[in-house]
Amino acid sequence: MSLSGKIAVVTGGSRGIGRAICQRLAALGATVIVNYVSNPAAADETVQSIQRAGGKAEACQFNVAVADEIDAAFKKIIDAHGRVDILVNNAGITRDGLLMKMKDEQWDEVLNTNLKGVFLCTKAVSRAMMKQRWGRVINITSVIGFAGNAGQANYAAAKAGIVGFTKSVAKELASRGITVNGVAPGYIVTDMTKDLSEEVTDVIRNEIPMGVLGEAEDIAGAVVYLASDDARYVTGQFIHVNGGMFM
Ligand code: NDP
Repeated sequence: MSLSGKIAVVTGGSRGIGRAICQRLAALGATVIVNYVSNPAAADETVQSIQRAGGKAEACQFNVAVADEIDAAFKKIIDAHGRVDILVNNAGITRDGLLMKMKDEQWDEVLNTNLKGVFLCTKAVSRAMMKQRWGRVINITSVIGFAGNAGQANYAAAKAGIVGFTKSVAKELASRGITVNGVAPGYIVTDMTKDLSEEVTDVIRNEIPMGVLGEAEDIAGAVVYLASDDARYVTGQFIHVNGGMFM
């Protein structure tokens, strides 16, 4: 498997799952644009880890929820590199709360980042990918988008929205050589899950047939498969990487 010569953009590439995705794409030869919103030090750490390993990467700040920032960033990327081959829509946040107590802002923030961000970034690369007649869009959804979760109605709605979006855009872009797929992680050890209490983590672990939480690298493996030529006939699909917790 080689991604040599490919230009890849990973939203939320500064930390967690996004960082592992950046590292795996770069290890296969892609030049990786590491997006972040507010954490330049973490983005720099991702970039440096790739460069130390002999790969190519650069950091790029933009907020996936803000159309103007995205348009400006993708224009710069395409001007500099001439193309975008791979887009991984990975940036995501949680603002948990039970329905009765959920504020509009919690809903809006999560939907704007986790769902609208996917729409805006995909739209921003679609023209370039159509011209190239080659592209890979990989959207990171969640087991929660398929199974639901009390206290995460906003997050589940956004992640389920990604499923419908992915399938629709896969149909629109298939004839142009562009595949659009998703990866649905289960519970993965990152900053997003680090604040769960030991008690909650035990409950989750008991729901996972494999008995352990996943690692960011487990998700990266599925992403690089979907980005590769091995997956050229796969579109509109989701790979569930969850230790068997949801089948
Ligand atoms: P982290 O909290 O560890 O990292 C989140 C990343 O998203 C950071 O790089 C952050 O950038 C970036 N980000 C957040 N908001 C924005 C924004 N508005 N614009 C651009 N970048 C932004 O999350 P994970 O690595 O755990 O999660 C990655 C993806 O995987 C998310 O979509 C999440 O929903 C999904 N997922 C995670 C699971 C888990 O168990 N961890 C399970 C299922 C799905 P910065 O560093 O600048 O803050």
